[in-house]
Amino acid sequence: MRESGTKYIFFTGGVSSSLGKGLTASSLGRLLKCRGLRVTMCKLDPYINVDPGTMNPFEHGEVFVTEDGGETDLDLGHYERFIDENLRKGSNSTTGGIYSSVIAKERRGDYLGKTVQVIPHVTDEIKKRIRGLGTDDVDVVIVEIGGTVGDIEIVPFIEAIRQFRRDVGRENVCYVHLTLVPYLGPSGEQKTKPTQHSVTELRSRGIQPNVIVCRSDRMISDDLKRKISLLCDVPIEAVVSAVDADNIYQIPLVLHEEGLDGYILGLLEFDEASHPIDLSGWERLVHQVDAAVRPVHIGIIGKYVDLPDAYLSVVESLRHAGFHHGAKVQIEWVQAATVPDLLERDGLRSFDGLVIPGGFGERGVEGKIAAARYAREHDLPLLGLCLGLQVMVIEVARSLAGLEGAHSREFDATTRHPVVDLMDDQNDVAEKGGTMRLGACPAQLLAGSQVAEAYGAEVVTERHRHRYEVNPRYRGALEDAGLVCSGMSPDGRLVEFIELPGHPFWVGTQAHPEFKSRPGRPHPLFRELVGAALERAEGRDPRLIDIGAVG
Ligand code: GLN
Repeated sequence: MRESGTKYIFFTGGVSSSLGKGLTASSLGRLLKCRGLRVTMCKLDPYINVDPGTMNPFEHGEVFVTEDGGETDLDLGHYERFIDENLRKGSNSTTGGIYSSVIAKERRGDYLGKTVQVIPHVTDEIKKRIRGLGTDDVDVVIVEIGGTVGDIEIVPFIEAIRQFRRDVGRENVCYVHLTLVPYLGPSGEQKTKPTQHSVTELRSRGIQPNVIVCRSDRMISDDLKRKISLLCDVPIEAVVSAVDADNIYQIPLVLHEEGLDGYILGLLEFDEASHPIDLSGWERLVHQVDAAVRPVHIGIIGKYVDLPDAYLSVVESLRHAGFHHGAKVQIEWVQAATVPDLLERDGLRSFDGLVIPGGFGERGVEGKIAAARYAREHDLPLLGLCLGLQVMVIEVARSLAGLEGAHSREFDATTRHPVVDLMDDQNDVAEKGGTMRLGACPAQLLAGSQVAEAYGAEVVTERHRHRYEVNPRYRGALEDAGLVCSGMSPDGRLVEFIELPGHPFWVGTQAHPEFKSRPGRPHPLFRELVGAALERAEGRDPRLIDIGAVG
């Protein structure tokens, strides 16, 4: 069979949001990669924000940062972790971004006096962006459409992907629709009606799905599959049961078991024989996950802790590090503002390690500073990420360098000692989009430092997203007080990593290493944090703990 050109797989969702469309799409991406295909992914988000950069992470979840500095939807984090490919700014488009381009073109006169309309101008812009991802080095582009069919804002996207098949040929496009098959307790039945309705909605927009993936808390029986097949007009092999998995890394195996990847391969006219699947690496990972049982208790000191998705990549990075050590990381969320009270009751005592993640305009910042101090004084392993590094620097400034009232100018505009401050004069910063330092930046590590040892390298690249920096004017004072700046920007101006010699692990980075951790390749800093935390956990003498608890 002749294979030519890039193929496109579109994922739409029906019935309800939060069915795990991103994870299902990512899992298919992983399966296709296991068949030797070159895969990239993208997310089209129907909301009007130009990008998620301005969205509150406590409503929308984390902002995932790409190598090239894109501020993107958190699903891109799933994509990167599953397909193990770096994505780009262009891998996430929103209605706002698309309209901005169309309106800019209109202002430039590019439309030559024509009336600018949703069809064809907006849909053309959507299609152009999708096509732009189908470069020569890509066999399959997987496109996830955010939201659910029937949403008001989704219509131009559905129309664009409908047209797309005409543009590139039927054999090059596959539509996968993800729905919910709920189990109704009182009648003891799984119900297909919501699926029928959402497929009807999709058809009313001109798209007949090729594959229907049914999310359910239990397997979909063959009888039910036959029913869905008949009512929704897809072959029975194209009805896939995606039952809840124990952990997200099992999903590719569940979908493969259901024959999803093989079916789609045939549909897209790939020669299945030349793309045999090799799942051994992924199966090894799943075994590793199952075998991760050594308990270790890590606290994440966050601003709001009600929406854990706000720190999704941090959580995943901790889990990856756990897989490496055979450890089950038990995460406990600690609201930063409560830390001073907790400390009065010695309430951080049960933790084996802490993470202070990034944040903006923090209310609970004093709590984070107090946690950094507690960790320093009690040899408790701590990893500070971005704002986390900044609060560690403030802590050292106040407690060890005698800089009373030291602060970041983000939180105290009139502080006497702005040990963390804006560096607006920096050309590099201006070039990278206003005052925000965004995307991958290299750092030179100090030979022999804990950080250099962890990475096993002297030059590393990490992704950034922040405005403030350690103030170079205070570097001398901080170092005199014992802080080691173990990684600097190549020009030697910006502090990228810090550590404290003699402490088991008290390390901060100005970057967001959580965006680069992969399930089978944990990030070195998370790996070392969890390693140090395990040592502490397993080194505790249980009798002493008991006595302590009673006393
Ligand atoms: N608010 C801090 C800054 O802008 C830290 C940002 C972050 O943690 N991502 O520098």
